[in-house]
Amino acid sequence: MKKTIKDIDVKGKIVLVRCDFNVPLNDDGVITDDTRIVGALPTIQYLIGEGAKIILMSHLGRPDGAPSEAFSLRPVAEALTKKLGRPVWFESVAAVVDEEVKAKAASLLPGEVMLLENTRFRKEEDCKDKDAQRPFAEQLASLAEVYVNDAFGSAHRHHASTAGVADYIPAVSGFLIEKEVKFLGEALENPKRPFVAILGGAKVADKIKVIENLLKKVDTLLIGGGMAYTFLKAEGFEVGRSILDAESLDLAKSLIEKAKEENAELLLPVDVNAAAAFENDAPAFIRNADEIPPDLMGLDIGPETIGLFADRIAAAGTVFWNGPMGVFEMPAFAAGTRAVAEAMAASGAVTVIGGGDSAAAVEQFGLADKMTHVSTGGGASLEFMEGKTLPGIAVIADR
Ligand code: AMP
Repeated sequence: MKKTIKDIDVKGKIVLVRCDFNVPLNDDGVITDDTRIVGALPTIQYLIGEGAKIILMSHLGRPDGAPSEAFSLRPVAEALTKKLGRPVWFESVAAVVDEEVKAKAASLLPGEVMLLENTRFRKEEDCKDKDAQRPFAEQLASLAEVYVNDAFGSAHRHHASTAGVADYIPAVSGFLIEKEVKFLGEALENPKRPFVAILGGAKVADKIKVIENLLKKVDTLLIGGGMAYTFLKAEGFEVGRSILDAESLDLAKSLIEKAKEENAELLLPVDVNAAAAFENDAPAFIRNADEIPPDLMGLDIGPETIGLFADRIAAAGTVFWNGPMGVFEMPAFAAGTRAVAEAMAASGAVTVIGGGDSAAAVEQFGLADKMTHVSTGGGASLEFMEGKTLPGIAVIADR
């Protein structure tokens, strides 16, 4: 178990908190979705309540080390001020840390909050060479006495603000990371069985490592979405014009073999909803997965597959899901993705959604609050499920 802010005394301490305030902004610099800000509030409010002196930091977008108003965290400071009901001090400083910022950090009173400018205004933040990150990491750490990592979405990256700072001050997790590690970790290490994983999305290549690791853990692996066609082809079926990751064909074959070795049930679609064009209003046809005609492409799983997958989900103890079952952005091909989300919401299982598109889908369907856990990190949750140690979590002290 990793130490959290509850395991240490933060009263009167200057605490440097890495949040994920990478929010979407429109052309006028207005925040269009404040989910990430809302998600960060429990940790911040707890620290305020405990009388900590709070310095928040985050990246926003990809300014590539070139500071600009378009990537400033000023709108986030304003939103936080409203949500916390107290001023959040902020100065748009290109260097992120300067004399004024240092002076403010040193003079914070218990319960006071300040936000640093976008950490990616400094090119050292995310440069590949970890040693080159050090001076910035040290500068950030010198502002505070304790480091709190609560940015799960960036935890799979070793950056100055996500991992580097922990070389200089003790590190604990905030509530968001605590929850991620608990639910993703339990699914991997101690799942209530049967453990069913559902993987979809476009490319097999992106998910190979997660499939390999999950095959060792799951009772059943359901594969849908674009990547299913590479597996169907590997089984010897023609897939027409469906998306095919030809370079991963041999890999798909070996994963099918591995499933047998691991005694894991691997289910592919038995039918698909297919069309001749990648368009929402293209005429669509239900076809058996082993009879996709040469002129059609599978764009969603079919009704029989939905039934098959829903049965496995209904009987599961734990369900982990990453990747849509079809081109869910087009309403005509969203049925499979919606059905999986609904089956998960209705099951009594522990349900874990691994960030990215699947998280967006359950939000879109209004089912997010019916899930046990919706991960806040797409890439991070996949790497976690691959069994990798995430740099931003590795630096947090063990209990
Ligand atoms: P990924 O980023 O790998 O999780 O892939 C997500 C994308 O896969 C979504 O944008 C879906 O539209 C796309 N996708 C899912 N199923 C299919 C399919 N059958 N054919 C083409 N694209 C698909």
